[in-house]
Amino acid sequence: MTAPAEATALIRGAQRIICICHVMPDGDAIGSLIGLAFALRKMGKPCTLACADSVPERLLFLPGVTEVQPVAPADEDLIITLDCSDTERIGALYDADLFAQKRVLNIDHHITNVQFGEVNWVEQRAATAEMCLELIAALAIPLDIAIATCLLTGIVTDTRSFRTSNTTPDVLRAAIRLIEAGASLADINEQLNQYNSPSRVCLWGRALSNARMQERVIWAEITPHLLATCSATIEDTEDLVSFLVATRGIDVALLFTDRGDGEIEVSMRAARDVDISGVALHLGGGGHPQAAGCICKGTLGEIETLVLKATTDALRAQGRLS
Ligand code: 5GP
Ligand code: MN
Repeated sequence: MTAPAEATALIRGAQRIICICHVMPDGDAIGSLIGLAFALRKMGKPCTLACADSVPERLLFLPGVTEVQPVAPADEDLIITLDCSDTERIGALYDADLFAQKRVLNIDHHITNVQFGEVNWVEQRAATAEMCLELIAALAIPLDIAIATCLLTGIVTDTRSFRTSNTTPDVLRAAIRLIEAGASLADINEQLNQYNSPSRVCLWGRALSNARMQERVIWAEITPHLLATCSATIEDTEDLVSFLVATRGIDVALLFTDRGDGEIEVSMRAARDVDISGVALHLGGGGHPQAAGCICKGTLGEIETLVLKATTDALRAQGRLS
């Protein structure tokens, strides 16, 4: 499917555009943000790049990252949200009154998207970056190395380097177009996957040694104390939950991160035939069948009990547990 005419019409009619991606951005969020914004500028549209949180160190190799700033919409008439399934994902840059005064184009690939935009282009795709590539093609904007590198980074991130079950022929064809436009798959993989700082090794070692398993579920926890012990940051936890879900005989992996502010971040991954998105949605979050998450108020112990119960109930409903 190509980008809907409503989406291209909104863009063609806009004077100034602000593109915004989600809080705690990943490669698909930042890749889509910069890739699309750079393309929109090529069609003569002034475009601001915004994200409530800073770009993680691992993505600093991307062109244009210094332009990504925590700026709220100002004189722009069109807001394009990228990879955001609800307005909470926009974080501190969201203001209901301000958004109501602008046109809002919501581009996202999460099935849990709550359709908060004026135009909502939501499809179950491998990455938002894949959708951005189609939008750019529909607008007849030529690709260049910078745009291609950003969009390929989005696809590589969300398919875990073309390993997930949503890596369809269309996704591979999109990747080919981006590589032909000059993006280096080898460079992107090196930047994304070979970033193991000593802090990260310390953190993973300790978290893994305390991981627990029960009824096809594996879980681990990150506390402020552990982060301090390893001089690690939240960024160092990225991918730990994906590592856990690769455990043989496991259907769901959960990573509980105590943010030290009364909130627990829950990161969820499910095996191929299992769907964890319903559990995340039920707990106020969202995501995809195999990768979802939420943020819950409470203590680590309370939230672990709550989420483990919801997870085993879901596994039972899906016939994975007797
Ligand atoms: P991760 O575990 O990598 O942080 O997130 C996995 C997936 O779940 C991502 O696609 C992300 O969009 C979604 N997700 C994670 N946390 C939240 C959350 O708090 N709210 C919503 N709506 N989605 C989330
Ligand atoms: Mn994504």
